[in-house]
Amino acid sequence: MYKKYDAGRVCLYRSYTIADLCRLYSNQGLHPQTVRAWVKHGGLQAINAKGKLYIYGAIWKVYLKQRNKAKEIKLKLHQIKCLSCKVITEPLDSIIHKLDFSPSCGLQGDVACGHCGYRQHRYYKKSEHSKLKESFTVLLDETGLLYDSSTTPNKTHLMGGKKLTTSELPDNTSTPPNNANMLATQTNFLDLL
Ligand SMILES: [Zn+2]
Repeated sequence: MYKKYDAGRVCLYRSYTIADLCRLYSNQGLHPQTVRAWVKHGGLQAINAKGKLYIYGAIWKVYLKQRNKAKEIKLKLHQIKCLSCKVITEPLDSIIHKLDFSPSCGLQGDVACGHCGYRQHRYYKKSEHSKLKESFTVLLDETGLLYDSSTTPNKTHLMGGKKLTTSELPDNTSTPPNNANMLATQTNFLDLL
């Protein structure tokens, strides 16, 4: 299993033996064999002094940071990582069944895995709302965020329960939010079903 080791535990200007490093990360159970394998096959630079390996703090830091970064999977907007089959795929038929606010105040889309069909939540940033509406068929949008393709994602604003004041509108030249248009679009999607 992949473990993320914190690069901040070593001093830049010190060298460490493998035993030193394993002590520093003993709470995560870093094993001397692991470090030796990194030196041998993983490109971690070490100094061999009379048969003993030393690793410079600065080198260790860079190595861990790169290693941690390489393991981070950044999903593209159209991708999901399925909680069931673990495959990175796209939502089935490009449909978001329901779009709503997530507990963390971002957005959550109710999607089905394009590979196995398993229904799950995929989380998005609030600023991705317009892009989501452009890229997917959103069957039910309960965010109350207004979709307007002419505004940038940052300019999306609330409608519905909250009353808009003049200062909250993007600017005076743009037309006010057109609820009728949005409702019409949603109805069209429903007609397609
Ligand atoms: Zn799946």
